[in-house]
Amino acid sequence: MKIWEKNIRKVVPYVPGEQPKGEKLIKLNTNENPYPPAPGVQRALQEMDCDAFRKYPDPAATILVEALAREHSVKPEQIFVGVGSDDVLAMAFLTFFNSDKPLLFPDVTYSFYKVWADLFQIPYETPKLDEEFRIRIEDYQRENGGIIFPNPNAPTGLAEPLSFVEEMLKSNPDSIVIVDEAYVDFGGESAIALLEQYENLLVVQTFSKSRSMAGIRIGYAIGSPSLIRALNDVKYSYNSYTMNLPSQILGAEALKDRAYFEASTHKIIQTRERAKLRLKELGFVFPDSSANFIFARHPQVSAEELFLALKEKQIYVRYFKQERLSEYLRITIGTDEEMEQFFAFLEAYLAQK
Ligand code: PMP
Repeated sequence: MKIWEKNIRKVVPYVPGEQPKGEKLIKLNTNENPYPPAPGVQRALQEMDCDAFRKYPDPAATILVEALAREHSVKPEQIFVGVGSDDVLAMAFLTFFNSDKPLLFPDVTYSFYKVWADLFQIPYETPKLDEEFRIRIEDYQRENGGIIFPNPNAPTGLAEPLSFVEEMLKSNPDSIVIVDEAYVDFGGESAIALLEQYENLLVVQTFSKSRSMAGIRIGYAIGSPSLIRALNDVKYSYNSYTMNLPSQILGAEALKDRAYFEASTHKIIQTRERAKLRLKELGFVFPDSSANFIFARHPQVSAEELFLALKEKQIYVRYFKQERLSEYLRITIGTDEEMEQFFAFLEAYLAQK
């Protein structure tokens, strides 16, 4: 090994879901929304003046921050925006998890947490979810350097009630607690309601799922002004122009159409509930999802084999070859037509088993 090679930072990167190309494929593998963004987003894109691209964007993303503050009835000083919630979460890890005590997050959760902890050399421990994939609050009632968990959790889809989040906060007045609400709009209860009482709470949300804008990359955090100030200090020490101008404009535009947002999340919830019934009829078992995906296994069928058979037919779902997860498939909720094709395949596959 060359001497300079020894100085290269070694990390095991996060592996995102596949982005296969093709017209006819059914993509149920990365929790994207099958419906387009609000119609106003398309209009704003068409009306965009490219001359504005000559200049740097507003580093504070004021139009988007103000629109989000209105949307969530908080002050603009309580909002931090980033390039997808991955960017917001990475900044939050760097800013807030700066202790010698271990950061705590569940063993089965968003796999990026471990990657950021390693990258930023944050000590961490991963208490095991119980047999039903529930977070055991007792595991978080001890000394720690911070807490993060998604609610609903991924990839299980299980949501905890607000009373659970509040208990977590009551047990941890000396830690920053981050609730990653990437999937909250599909049936979870947002911890935004607790922000006034808990200055150590940071809630993170995204435009990638419920707002159908994964490709534009917008995420945000809501918290007390002191947490948001700390996040901004780190962000401005790293890259001031994170969010480009089109994202700022299109994000603010998306927030104007509440009726569209409600209708499209409602459609996905209804499709999900129908999918649960179909999966049950076919013998699958799964935690009761409040997200836009279902994490299911079939007692008689190998998940890996089924994953590959689906892929052969251009139906993509997510498979994790990992301890505790390898018997499951994570199935994103698509349109009714997509789910119909998915179920038609499953019925035929199970019939010949
Ligand atoms: N949190 C969770 C729990 C997720 O599943 C995802 C999606 N991969 C994200 C955050 C990040 O999403 P985005 O960066 O698109 O906002």
